[in-house]
Amino acid sequence: MNYPARMNLSARVSSLKASSTVAVMNKAKALKAAGADVLNFSAGEPDFDTPEPAKRAAINAINANLTRYIDTPGDPATRELLARHISTTSNIPGVTKDHVLVTAGVKMALYLTYQTLFDLQPPGQEQEMLLPVPAWVSFSPMARLAGAKVVELPTGPEQDFKITPAQLKSAITPRTRALMLNTPSNPCSTMYSQAELEALAAVVAEAASTIAPEMVVISDELYQNIVFGSVPHFSIGSVPSIAERTITVNGPGKSFAMTGWRLGWVSGSGEFGKQLVAGLSKLQGQSITCVPGFSLAALRSALTECDAELEAMRTAFAARAEVIYAELRKLPGIKLARPVGAFYVFPDISAHLGTHSAKGAKINSAADFASALLDEQQMAVVPGEDFSSLLGHKHIRISFACSLEQIREGCRRLGAFIAGLNRA
Ligand code: GLU
Repeated sequence: MNYPARMNLSARVSSLKASSTVAVMNKAKALKAAGADVLNFSAGEPDFDTPEPAKRAAINAINANLTRYIDTPGDPATRELLARHISTTSNIPGVTKDHVLVTAGVKMALYLTYQTLFDLQPPGQEQEMLLPVPAWVSFSPMARLAGAKVVELPTGPEQDFKITPAQLKSAITPRTRALMLNTPSNPCSTMYSQAELEALAAVVAEAASTIAPEMVVISDELYQNIVFGSVPHFSIGSVPSIAERTITVNGPGKSFAMTGWRLGWVSGSGEFGKQLVAGLSKLQGQSITCVPGFSLAALRSALTECDAELEAMRTAFAARAEVIYAELRKLPGIKLARPVGAFYVFPDISAHLGTHSAKGAKINSAADFASALLDEQQMAVVPGEDFSSLLGHKHIRISFACSLEQIREGCRRLGAFIAGLNRA
């Protein structure tokens, strides 16, 4: 007799939200593979190919049989290169190879970081992570999985989707363990200036010397290289007063068109950074062991041999940002901030809620809007709900890491969709 087990998921996993960016991306890719004329504006995935030198480096590494396990935090040569890279491009002090760990993408970098930071506490006593929202969909679920209570700090277009020092100050409690920052921002594509980050750092330093001695900053700088000129990128970990309480995560996926390579790194400064990396390393050793060694040959090549490709892609993203901003602003009832970094727009579509689509679907939320837009115009965007529980239902996220031609056609389809909405 066969008695199949009922698959009871752990409470942790059953209560975990699935990633909406990944879900829409998978759906759009599947529809496309089945022959549908879908325009994919869902995941933040550059349409460029990985630069040739990086691909060649990995192929050569495979041919040289770099196919065995490597040191858990990454091989010394790569970590030394990353330490120099972080010191020079981000001005973060006190970073040597022992302050850097390479892992499988920035997502894993964050996952390991949260697991290493947060303690499991009884309900009501959880350590808190302050999260300015709108924010990327996975920060909150991953931190909660590690035991954190996520406290959303609301921002809106009137403050350019950035928190103020006063807002931060009033949110810090003795239970605050972390402030999560992401600049340039996914999904808002706005950036904090140096002065703004220094002001936030001053609040953190003050809180750390009084009510929140354990507080750290986690800075996700994945879009560091994709900036369009008006605000230079600045790393908050370079501010001396909080350098040794800042964890910086980064990776080559977005700026070197290497999303599928799953590479990312975590770094910290001084004794704090060394202990952080030792903790992360222990966890990595008990989970994925290490990243594939041959992929690190590609990473080293990207960081040392691919400046021209990097700049060409940055320039293309800048041009795309201009076009999508100009085209979307022409559409009725669409409000958006000008993107200055990364490759997203996060338009407010609330003027169109309370309508019906041309084919009769009710449009009462961003989720309704995005679902009908996919069904009726074959345009895949991510609904805003999971980027902010406060105002996400009024926004959709459009990734413009695609060709100008696709951007123009997408704006035309969005315009046609909006023109078909009726209030009856
Ligand atoms: N980070 C990208 C995005 O926001 C890729 C998908 C994901 O990991 O969320 O679309």
